[in-house]
Amino acid sequence: MIDLDFTLKKYEELCQTIVSSKYIPLSVNKYLTMDCTDKCIILRHDVDRAIGRAQDMAQLEYECGITSTYYFRHTKDVFRPDIMRKIADMGHEIGFHYEVMDKAKGDAVKAIEIFKQELEEMRSVAEVTTVCMHGNPLASWSNRDLWEKYDLKDFGIIGEPYLSLDYNKILYLTDTGRTWADMNIRVKDVLDTDDGANSRFTGTVVSTDDVIDLVKAEEVRQMCILAHPNRWCNGTFGWTKELIYQNIKNFAKAGIVLYRNRNNKD
Ligand SMILES: [Zn+2]
Repeated sequence: MIDLDFTLKKYEELCQTIVSSKYIPLSVNKYLTMDCTDKCIILRHDVDRAIGRAQDMAQLEYECGITSTYYFRHTKDVFRPDIMRKIADMGHEIGFHYEVMDKAKGDAVKAIEIFKQELEEMRSVAEVTTVCMHGNPLASWSNRDLWEKYDLKDFGIIGEPYLSLDYNKILYLTDTGRTWADMNIRVKDVLDTDDGANSRFTGTVVSTDDVIDLVKAEEVRQMCILAHPNRWCNGTFGWTKELIYQNIKNFAKAGIVLYRNRNNKD
């Protein structure tokens, strides 16, 4: 039997490995409020689309005794209070995956108004104390640019994973592009820092089995794992569809990276 990667079965294996290790699995809020210095793994999920898969992943974590953070976009398909409440009831943190600079076409004044309104709507569903930007590889602005002008604290937000976590200390692993390794395709996912914890592992962690081995080794003190639920599914049809979709997207993103590098923009 072929051992497919990026399936819920594989994710369950990762979760089981985490709970049987010395690492404490934490949501972003818990990490920030506990000021954790112990061995821990921050688990973060960006719900970009396919909210049903987020629910499946949340359920699986719940069964493993893990609580994590789910960042929801404010879009028609993803902002689904009924499902979000179910995920919150499992003990997971609900966060806001904002893209307000995109919605305001780069106008920060407009963007902050949209931010306020959408945050309020998110808060009518569950408590929201952390937010995380959505990356739009096609835009010349970044959604986090907003915080050069405004202060997250004014909105009762205690953290933003891209701004509040110290990646000199925390190893950052993301499934962006359905691989844990490819730096080229991380257009807007890139970190400001490439020192410390991260430089040692760049390119060495490719498959989920590599991540599992890393957890088993317990050498890295703190990690942040970003898994996009829509990339993880069971059933061959969904998996093939996702693979084709991802390959098309990676190809497009690689083109953008190439273009940006040529233009010295990124
Ligand atoms: Zn996103």
